[in-house]
Amino acid sequence: MGIVCPSAYFLDKKESKRDFYIRELRELHPELSRRIPEIKLVEDVHVIPNYSYQVNGFCGKGFICIGDAHRFIDPIFSFGLTVTMREGQFAAPIIRGYLEGANRDKPNPFADHQLFCEMGIDVLEDVLDSFWEHPLSFAHCVYSRYTEYMTDMFAGRIYGHERQPTPALHSFRKLLKREGERERSYETSDLYSIPIGSRYHPERAAIWEVNSPVETTEKWLGPR
Ligand SMILES: Cc1cc2nc3c(=O)[nH]c(=O)nc-3n(C[C@H](O)[C@H](O)[C@H](O)COP(=O)(O)OP(=O)(O)OC[C@H]3O[C@@H](n4cnc5c(N)ncnc54)[C@H](O)[C@@H]3O)c2cc1C
Repeated sequence: MGIVCPSAYFLDKKESKRDFYIRELRELHPELSRRIPEIKLVEDVHVIPNYSYQVNGFCGKGFICIGDAHRFIDPIFSFGLTVTMREGQFAAPIIRGYLEGANRDKPNPFADHQLFCEMGIDVLEDVLDSFWEHPLSFAHCVYSRYTEYMTDMFAGRIYGHERQPTPALHSFRKLLKREGERERSYETSDLYSIPIGSRYHPERAAIWEVNSPVETTEKWLGPR
């Protein structure tokens, strides 16, 4: 059982992890309290500020990582299984081609597939970030301005051959200031595949910053 909340809310409460967790389980929802009348902790309460990640170079000679093996973003819109299953589907014919001799001389025989998958998840990441950063504009796009494009995205049509990037996505990227100078770049593998906690807001996941002085999540949260 876990509690998901903004870290500022957790910090404001000034409670220990254990007290916070137990109180939330009691207060979060009456139905939850009814179903768990007695709380028995089987281990310490753990906290994690951000568990998204992105693996650099997840395809190469003889291997392709699929799904969570290379990238995980906020699961709030439940895209994880779709992405995993579709990546498996996309990889199958490519693997077959490789076994039959295609692209054997290339340094990365699956480079196109890798870029294709990254660009698809980038669409999701920008949609999700718009939801959190600009909820009103996001709602406006869903309900009035771009309903058709948004329906497409929610249905998992996030890849290049599925009308992406759509005008809705351009609009989100503009809102997030990810167009123009800070536009996503796919020129080199290093640029599009940086291991991240929160690429655009490293302060929210300090532990994942490159060369971060923060050693552990617990230290980042401060003394309790
Ligand atoms: C809190 C949370 C909520 C989520 N909610 C949703 C949701 O509502 N809808 C949705 O679609 N997605 C959701 N997701 C995402 C979804 O669960 C994942 O994206 C999806 O399960 C990824 O599938 P996968 O096959 O890549 O990895 P996994 O499902 O993690 O499968 C990897 C498997 O490999 C096994 N394994 C690991 N190491 C080894 C080893 N060395 N040897 C043998 N086996 C090994 C693991 O035990 C595991 O069974 C959620 C994720 C989280 C964390």
